[in-house]
Amino acid sequence: MAKIKGEVKIAIEVCKGCELCVYECPQETLGMSEELNQRGYHYTIVVQDNCTGCTNCALVCPDAAIMVYRERRKKKPSIAEVYRETEDMTVTIDGR
Ligand code: SF4
Ligand code: SF4
Repeated sequence: MAKIKGEVKIAIEVCKGCELCVYECPQETLGMSEELNQRGYHYTIVVQDNCTGCTNCALVCPDAAIMVYRERRKKKPSIAEVYRETEDMTVTIDGR
């Protein structure tokens, strides 16, 4: 199954620091800043690069401060492919 990688963008000036998104993130991707935004709130930051794009954080945010983007992780290219053969065959690995 292809894995999904997620990425979140946080509008830090909209965030009011309620921390709902932090509690609802199953990956513990999010945390709170040490700094304050212009409204005087600690704001959400990404603390780990492990977002799966589940969208929990965006769904619970009362101020719609989070956008979630998803991309499908590419499968690793195979180094050898062997098809069913009835005669002698040559296997080529990585072009050699
Ligand atoms: S999309 Fe899901 S995994 Fe990613 S930060 Fe939000 S709650 Fe966490
Ligand atoms: S749920 Fe929204 S307002 Fe609350 S801390 Fe997270 S981003 Fe900020």
